[in-house]
Amino acid sequence: MTSETPERTPPRVVVGVALVQDGRVLAARRTRPASAAGRWELPGGKVEPGESEIEAARREVAEELGCDVAVGRRLAGEVELAGGMVLRAHVGEVVSGVPEPTEHDLLRWLGAEELDTVPWLDADRPFLPEIAELLRRT
Ligand code: C5P
Repeated sequence: MTSETPERTPPRVVVGVALVQDGRVLAARRTRPASAAGRWELPGGKVEPGESEIEAARREVAEELGCDVAVGRRLAGEVELAGGMVLRAHVGEVVSGVPEPTEHDLLRWLGAEELDTVPWLDADRPFLPEIAELLRRT
């Protein structure tokens, strides 16, 4: 038997991007896994080893939406996900190309008053008040 405390692995970061344009934010509808299909999220994904959050955000959006984005400041807070991961979110904007989904089945640009009209993933919801405030100011 050992009395050693098991080492904690730091949580793996998942980064979402609140892409803002003309007072609206881009929401993307998931198709997988079945438990998340039909739920909406900020596009993004896992930060790979050696990558910064911003690099990961730009790569994930390029993969998922086929466009180039600039990624800016982080929104407040982070949300624990299953599997020892945490979700963080950054503000961003499209710098070239038009978002076209490669993995999601629908995209919508939502204004501050429309954010509640889609069923978001639970993990993304805590970021919505700050996003709404940001949209009202733009
Ligand atoms: O997109 P991907 O499957 O790589 O995401 C990894 C994990 O992060 C999943 O559990 C997914 O539900 C979660 N996620 C999230 N909100 C996002 C993006 C991903 O909760 N905006």
